[in-house]
Amino acid sequence: IFIGMTAGILIGFLLQILFDDNGDLRFSIFGIEVSTYGILVEGIFSTVGQIFIASLKMLVVPLVLVSLICGTCSLTDPSKLGRLGAKSVGLYILTTAIAVTLAISMGLLVAPGEGLNLTTEADYAAKQAPSLSDVIVNMFPANPINAMAEGNMLQIIVFAVLFGIAMAMTGEAGKRLGAFFEDVNTVIMRLVTIIMNLAPYGVFVLMAKLFATIGLGTIASLAKYFFLVLVVLALHAFITYPIMLKLLTGLNPLILIKKMRDAALFAFSTSSSSATLPVTMETARNKLGVGNSVSSFTLPLGATINMDGTAIMQGVATVFIAQVYAVDLSASDYIMVVLTATLASVGTAGVPGVGLIMLAMVLQQVNLPVEGIALIIGVDRLLDMTRTAVNITGDCTVACIVAKTEGELNEQVYNDPEAGEREE
Ligand code: ASP
Repeated sequence: IFIGMTAGILIGFLLQILFDDNGDLRFSIFGIEVSTYGILVEGIFSTVGQIFIASLKMLVVPLVLVSLICGTCSLTDPSKLGRLGAKSVGLYILTTAIAVTLAISMGLLVAPGEGLNLTTEADYAAKQAPSLSDVIVNMFPANPINAMAEGNMLQIIVFAVLFGIAMAMTGEAGKRLGAFFEDVNTVIMRLVTIIMNLAPYGVFVLMAKLFATIGLGTIASLAKYFFLVLVVLALHAFITYPIMLKLLTGLNPLILIKKMRDAALFAFSTSSSSATLPVTMETARNKLGVGNSVSSFTLPLGATINMDGTAIMQGVATVFIAQVYAVDLSASDYIMVVLTATLASVGTAGVPGVGLIMLAMVLQQVNLPVEGIALIIGVDRLLDMTRTAVNITGDCTVACIVAKTEGELNEQVYNDPEAGEREE
């Protein structure tokens, strides 16, 4: 996967350099003029890349539904479900709050927007942040088929948990159905493995397309903002998570970081925690030894409500935009930013670019000009990729902590460097 990614980036850059407007090789077939760049980038790379992402997304709803039903119906102790929920949500909110706080503090320390004189004509309309009660009410599906059709993760989770509980309470019929879902689950996991085997090629075309088209010129003027976000993302991934994991479970965090590599590369190339979910779940189960009842609940929940990387971008971006527009934010404004950024991530699923929509809510909350987003949009694509990798690392860290404290972590698998790597 890593080789695929690097080759994709290099080829993309090469295409961008070779095939600028004048360098494109055009020729005509049957009187139709074709451009080599068009065929490669818009034709092959873009098409294959879209098919790859669609194949990953195809697995998300069946995987979450079936594995969560299996996970819930096999729980013998009903109070465990409540504990799982409370621990997962609590840890997700805690890590996100730490992430924004870290981002704001670093933003104030480094002052990336001080003295910058950027202007923008662009208009960026903000949506209202959903209220907490809306988020909670919206978790309950009036129509589960509709929830699945829309891929509404929270609603699917609620339906699957209720269905699983009912199965556990139904005796023989529940057991029969449970065996059926176990089989479906095994087949879906097989499908995940098949698609993961194609990952190096998928990642290659996604990167080649992106780097052939991305404009990197804007990075120079926003270098301070751009690199500050990257530094805070790295701090959170390599310091906050390991410390939490060590303190709360005693597990060796280096193992987790190493084993997250493939899933993080997936997240990086797809920019979507939701599309990466099948890979995140496979990593947690097969490489980290997280039990099914925890991984099938905590990870889909995390892909929706836990976005630490996104929260970090929002923290730094708020400070940056305030500094560019020379607006002084008070301490209570910053607390507001922490709260809104944390809450905004709860109701929004992890798909590419959603972080900017959430940022609009945060800016509006503290009366900063929402057009400020236009300033940073140019470099957001690359940051989106990196923060998505952090988002899913956070999901897996929390899954390991919850699993360990619930006695659902297979430490032999966790500590085995080869676990999940062998070809079956
Ligand atoms: N792309 C991110 C994710 O899927 C969300 C974002 O920050 O835009 O996790």
